[in-house]
Formats: sequence, C-alpha cells, structure tokens
Amino acid sequence: MTVDLQALYDADNIFAKILRREIPVEIIYEDDYALAFPDIAPQAPIHVLIIPKGAYVSSADFGASASDAEIAGLARAITKVAENLGLSHSGYRLISNTGPDAGQEVPHYHVHLLAGAKLSAKLI
Ligand code: ADP
Repeated sequence: MTVDLQALYDADNIFAKILRREIPVEIIYEDDYALAFPDIAPQAPIHVLIIPKGAYVSSADFGASASDAEIAGLARAITKVAENLGLSHSGYRLISNTGPDAGQEVPHYHVHLLAGAKLSAKLI
C-alpha cells in the first residue's frame, strides 16, 4: 500500500501510534514540534526518522497547511538531531518520500536522515 496524497490523515497509521506512545521506540530527540527515532529497517549505519507532531500525511499537506512555527520547528529538529549525533562535519542525507511515485508507505510526514558512511546510490 502506498500513500494517497488526497486521502485524509489516518490517525491509525504507525507513526501516529508512536506519537501516542502506543508503540514503543527509542526516542532520539523530542521537542514541541517533532519526534525522532531509529528506522526499524536501517538503510545506513545511522538511519533516523524525524516526524512532525502534527497530523500531516506528507510534505505536500505539511508545506500547504502547517504553521510557520511547525515548519521551522521540524527544520530545527532535523538540525538538532544531526548535531546531537555528531554529524555536523561528516554530513548526512535527508530524504522525504512523498506519494506513490516516491514509494511513500507510511502516511505521516517523515524525513529520513541517513549517515555514518559514504552513502551509495546517489540519485541527484
Ligand atoms: P519506504 O518504506 O519505501 O521507505 P517511507 O518513506 O514511507 O517508505 O518510509 C517508511 C519508513 O518507516 C521505512 O523506512 C520503515 O522501515 C520505517 N518504519 C516502519 N515501521 C516502523 C517502526 N515501527 N519503527 C521505526 N521505523 C519504522
């Protein structure tokens, strides 16, 4: 199943359950706007997911509907996660799959942070 960008937010999606603490994760970072935790199927030595706390399906409705504070909050959280993981100099890759052509599976907006090695399969 992939995400329908026109669909309403599904409060039963797995990341919504993680936000409600119904599914336990190792919390790497949390503030008023965002939560970060390790990806369950890591694609790099470091693979963290950073999600907004608001109910957004993807970057599409996040960019269209989130408040300036939520958008800034997520951006600052991503930077804090990278700093806290000691990646400011070595670097990292951010990916956000949006909708069916990108293969987005979980219908809660999330940003993948990949790091910890020279990353292969650079698409752009
Ligand atoms: P894709 O699965 O194609 O990467 P997404 O961009 O929607 O699509 O990414 C969803 C990510 O969520 C996947 O990397 C998957 O491993 C991760 N994931 C799914 N369930 C959990 C979970 N319970 N805890 C942590 N990560 C999860």
